Amino acid sequence: MYPQDNRENWFKGQGHWEGVAESDWKSWVWQLKNRITTTEQLEEFIELTPDEKAGCLFANNKLALAITPYFFNLIDTENPDCPIRKQVIPRKGETTISPDELLDPVGEENTMPVKGLVHRYPDRVLFLVTDRCAAYCRYCTRSRLVSNAQDYNFHPSYEEGLEYIRNHPEIRDVLLSGGDPLLLSDRKLDHLLGELRKIPHVEFIRIGSRIPVFLPQRITPQLCEIFKKHGPIWMSIHVNHPNEITEELYEATERLSFAGVPLGNQSVLLNGINDDVDTMKSLLHRLLMMRVRPYYLYQCDLITGSAHLRTPVEKGIELIKALRGHTTGYSLPQYVIDAPGGGGKIPINPEYIQKITEDEIVLRNFEGKEYRYPLKPNQQGLEPAREFEPEAVLV
Ligand SMILES: *Cc1c(COP(=O)(O)O)cnc(C)c1O
Ligand code: SF4
Repeated sequence: MYPQDNRENWFKGQGHWEGVAESDWKSWVWQLKNRITTTEQLEEFIELTPDEKAGCLFANNKLALAITPYFFNLIDTENPDCPIRKQVIPRKGETTISPDELLDPVGEENTMPVKGLVHRYPDRVLFLVTDRCAAYCRYCTRSRLVSNAQDYNFHPSYEEGLEYIRNHPEIRDVLLSGGDPLLLSDRKLDHLLGELRKIPHVEFIRIGSRIPVFLPQRITPQLCEIFKKHGPIWMSIHVNHPNEITEELYEATERLSFAGVPLGNQSVLLNGINDDVDTMKSLLHRLLMMRVRPYYLYQCDLITGSAHLRTPVEKGIELIKALRGHTTGYSLPQYVIDAPGGGGKIPINPEYIQKITEDEIVLRNFEGKEYRYPLKPNQQGLEPAREFEPEAVLV
């Protein structure tokens, strides 16, 4: 179904912006300045469906519209069902709110001791450092605050966040997120990472960012030097579909890897975007080709106006079942539900345990065959241990 995952077939070039100077194209500032942010700009490149037009009209009340030229090129403008298009161009479904949907779908507001700092798990915190992103994903869990379309007015105080972490010696892991932390200037990131590194009990620092995917130009050698200086800094990128894996993304992840940044990937399972085996397999294989280890596959959160993007959980389980054992174990993310109300991430696995009795566990393998493993040592027919002969080992 997909062209070979061979890099020869990965997208490269400037697409609709072929006439632009290469130095502009490769500048992240140029990319940000030239983002598509209005319906009129969109319509210069693409014929919107009535469904999309209705979504675009509503976007300013929910989550802003923004797409970098680089990412826009990945859209197949002839195909209304293009999996890239559905991620960044709003649709009418966003205007419909079903009863189980929530503004704060994973209950972050209740576990924020300081504005922007979520302390839900015993030894780690989520530090939200900005409400802006290079482009906006229509299924964003933090739509309530990201892009400020809903007047949340997010103004985190880094100093208060840092002070909280300094005063809580149990925090050994800090995850910077937002919004997208890599939209901060080099100077701010350098300062923030430096301050975190100074805290003796912080041993693990990671960044959650979709910038490599929306704006790979931001991964400059200077930025990589900052990661090197404060390293190890781990990073989770966010790719949902194999078509997002391009030559430019490859080069950006290579710069990060060579700067010593271990890379993981988080995907959201999305209806008609990546919820079939061929697409998911291609995505996972391409990630491995970029030295990116798939980390989490999220069941889509109950975000307001997201019903059209959510996939049934059963389908997610079937997907994992079709992958485990059938392809490289390194490529398999953990499928999770971030529990509504603040329960945190809960792993969802296909059933490999058939039953556990007093003396054995009955398992089912990837081909559906049954296997047994004893729970207690078998005491019958034990032979006396042979005498240990050291010389036999040394020969
Ligand atoms: C996801 C998340 C983390 C990190 O969880 P890991 O399973 O360690 O990746 C930490 N805090 C919050 C609030 C989170 O949502
Ligand atoms: S990059 Fe992340 S924070 Fe930004 S809109 Fe997408 S999902 Fe939300």
